[in-house]
Amino acid sequence: MFHVEQFKKDQCPVCGSKDISPSFKTKDYMITQEEFSIDKCSSCGFLFTNPVPQEEVIGRYYESEVYVSHSNTKKGFKNFVYHLVRNFTLQRKVVLVKRYSPKGVLLDIGSGAGYFLNKAKQEGFETIGLEPSEEVRKGAIDEFNLDIRSLDNLYKLENNSVDVISMWHVLEHVYHLNKDLEQMMKVLKKDGTMIVAVPNPDSWDAHYYGELWGGWDVPRHLYHFRAKDVEMLFSKFNAEVVEIKPMQFDPVYVSMLSEQYRGKSVFHAIWFGMISYFNKNKYGCTSQIYVIKKK
Ligand SMILES: [Zn+2]
Repeated sequence: MFHVEQFKKDQCPVCGSKDISPSFKTKDYMITQEEFSIDKCSSCGFLFTNPVPQEEVIGRYYESEVYVSHSNTKKGFKNFVYHLVRNFTLQRKVVLVKRYSPKGVLLDIGSGAGYFLNKAKQEGFETIGLEPSEEVRKGAIDEFNLDIRSLDNLYKLENNSVDVISMWHVLEHVYHLNKDLEQMMKVLKKDGTMIVAVPNPDSWDAHYYGELWGGWDVPRHLYHFRAKDVEMLFSKFNAEVVEIKPMQFDPVYVSMLSEQYRGKSVFHAIWFGMISYFNKNKYGCTSQIYVIKKK
């Protein structure tokens, strides 16, 4: 096996406690089949992947056609459904953003193939995207003629210049979590809106599938945020969670990944995804959208 440099945290990224210990192990079922450990903070209960590959080498864990979140492939039934659902949900995402910040500058961090950014631009926002992959960035610029920049540009934006920051399934991938969030909050205007969508390890399906749950997605997912973790994290930056919305297709989508890992059929995924969905009021949805306001 090809040796990868790893980085081990000695404190909880949310509350800063050094009282952390290994909780359980899971695997990169998606790509490398390598095993990773998830630590739990004894003080606040936050779960995070520890250690993780060094930032410089994490790219190799994304180099796969199956990682559909970062590609445009329409091959296969699952990707076909994924793209269909994405188109359907784009409109709803923009409607949600507009309810809190109807116009202005929208910064989408981890803009990927550019679909959301393009929709937001069509709906009247002045848009900027940040995307780490040069190849993905070029593809989105070619397809939609968008303003998409490399990630370091987060530190080149003016303070109080952005009305909305969106991160759709991105916060769980951010290496310098506290430093980058501090900068995002500087760039965001007072009363600006931040939209953060992340998987929920408290969801029914996370409990049901255990270490096979598709939402762990190690080592790409560095953190596993419950609602209380998101609330505590943003409270450090003078920001507040004002609404939590379910991502309605994620119970079935994530259950499909989980069932694939244990070799069962798509019908199991639909069944258990539905059970999870109908338990979302008790456990929270598989993935949740947090609407956060800067005070
Ligand atoms: Zn903690």
